[in-house]
Amino acid sequence: MGETIFTKIIKREIPADIVYETDSVLAFRDIRPQAPTHILIIPKIEIPAVTDIKGKEHASVLADLFDAANEIAKKENLVEKGFRIVINCGPDGGQEVYHLHLHLMGGRKFSWPAG
Ligand code: AMP
Repeated sequence: MGETIFTKIIKREIPADIVYETDSVLAFRDIRPQAPTHILIIPKIEIPAVTDIKGKEHASVLADLFDAANEIAKKENLVEKGFRIVINCGPDGGQEVYHLHLHLMGGRKFSWPAG
């Protein structure tokens, strides 16, 4: 799997509205927001999709993604009312960019089941 647009964002080759960064994780606002707050949280290493996750090998970066989500949720004032985290996987899951990412969305009420 080749480089995606998210790798270009990590390398600062294309711009993004970056809200959070550590050595292992980057987070930036989605260009087509589906909620008042819609932030993508990605690992800096290339893991294309959920199906490429190897639990033991990737344990630390997966923990970092969720630590980032909680930090950002606090900064964006989403903790009290709640928020939604989504990971799309594959064509039926609606995945467009093959670089693992959490969608962190909040600021409105979400319905269930997801569409
Ligand atoms: P997914 O469908 O789960 O793969 O999600 C990909 C997401 O990336 C979509 O919500 C897009 O709106 C978002 N996206 C694509 N290109 C960019 C970009 N250059 N900057 C920010 N978000 C992007």
